[in-house]
Amino acid sequence: MPAMSCLFCRIAAGEIPSQTVLATEHVLAFRDIHPQAPSHALVIPRRHVDSLWELLDRELAGHLLLAAAEVARLERLEQGWRLIANTREHGGQEVGHLHLHVLGGRALGRMLAKP
Ligand code: AMP
Ligand code: ZN
Repeated sequence: MPAMSCLFCRIAAGEIPSQTVLATEHVLAFRDIHPQAPSHALVIPRRHVDSLWELLDRELAGHLLLAAAEVARLERLEQGWRLIANTREHGGQEVGHLHLHVLGGRALGRMLAKP
């Protein structure tokens, strides 16, 4: 997908405003526009990757996972939090740029489906 037509590439480029939670060389975390919990951030790679299915770069995978945990610490989610990667159509992925949801700030229940 060309970067300019991708919503999250445009957020990463600063063309569309977002509320940054964490910014590093490789990843960006920003608040979800429709939060499903008191704290709800999305962690994305700065470079375009369609979904977790296409993620083959182990180093980038590490950056994403560590950034998610750092977001949880920054958001003070000591009581717990959840990481979700909706992937492709059956996974309910709506934005075609890999993103990890970091959710917390309330008890999230046991469901495995989308929050
Ligand atoms: P998914 O269903 O896993 O693809 O999640 C996409 C998420 O992106 C949803 O939770 C949306 O609320 C969120 N979202 C869509 N547009 C924006 C935006 N401009 N800024 C922040 N979050 C967004
Ligand atoms: Zn993109």
